[in-house]
Amino acid sequence: MDIKQYVALRKEEIRQEISSAEKPPKLCIISVGEDPASQAYIRGKKKDSAEVGFEAEHVALPAETTAEELKRILIKKNEDPSVHGILVQLPLPKHLSPGMVNAIISPAKDVDGFVPGSHYVCCTPKGIVDYLTHEGFPFVGKNAVVIGRSQIVGKPMARLLLERSCNVTVIHSKTSEEDKRFYLAHADLIVVAVGKRGVIDSSYELKPSAFVVDVGINRDEEGHLHGDCEPGLPVALQTPVPGGVGLLTRLALLDNLLEAFKQ
Ligand code: NAP
Repeated sequence: MDIKQYVALRKEEIRQEISSAEKPPKLCIISVGEDPASQAYIRGKKKDSAEVGFEAEHVALPAETTAEELKRILIKKNEDPSVHGILVQLPLPKHLSPGMVNAIISPAKDVDGFVPGSHYVCCTPKGIVDYLTHEGFPFVGKNAVVIGRSQIVGKPMARLLLERSCNVTVIHSKTSEEDKRFYLAHADLIVVAVGKRGVIDSSYELKPSAFVVDVGINRDEEGHLHGDCEPGLPVALQTPVPGGVGLLTRLALLDNLLEAFKQ
């Protein structure tokens, strides 16, 4: 199924599931400063929330907000029983650290899945695995290659695939081109999370039955979005950019908030 159709279907299921609730699940989005890309992401999260009947409160703080002020607000939201999920939109201004934020947000309300001990799985890897499951990818014993080893995508992705009994290889900037070609030629599933165009192009030998999940977001000079992979690779499934993993990540946030609400 096409990702847009899958997301619409799952959103409708969520909407129906909470339609009889006395009060809707509530997300609190906190932003500091006015990063234009962040503003667009926040608009998307509010729109998604409204579509399924969730409440989304946006606390927009000025760029000069101190660590103490942010900490005080986060503690207040942790203690507010009407708030089920809290997320702090990244990036933060330089004087504030995501580490400090993660140390304060309650693991029970960390619907982004970033906080150590969070009750939820990181949204991007979760969204990808849920979609692959829906598409019938048979995980067990399959060769999965994850390109990229970041804390928010590559590493949690590899862990989730390992939990589903894939044979997982993680490659990164220090992997030789020869080894990269070897691993990719044997891969049943390839998840690319690098942030550079052309990480996989048509010169790579890939299995025709392979699934390729393109996490990358790269903006060209005209502002158009591109993934890390050349479009139209000769494989069984390749997620598009835009209209691919970004939508799955947004859906996973709704799923995590629903779980927080039920808890
Ligand atoms: P990141 O923290 O910059 O990590 C990039 C990873 O790619 C690093 O592990 C790096 O290896 C590896 N790498 C760099 N050059 C490479 C190369 N030539 N070959 C193989 N590996 C290479 O990035 P991130 O936060 O994981 O995000 C990756 C991309 O996904 C970005 O474009 C980001 O915007 C996008 N993204 C999209 C979504 C979504 O919802 N669609 C969500 C999150 C991220 P080293 O560790 O060796 O440096």
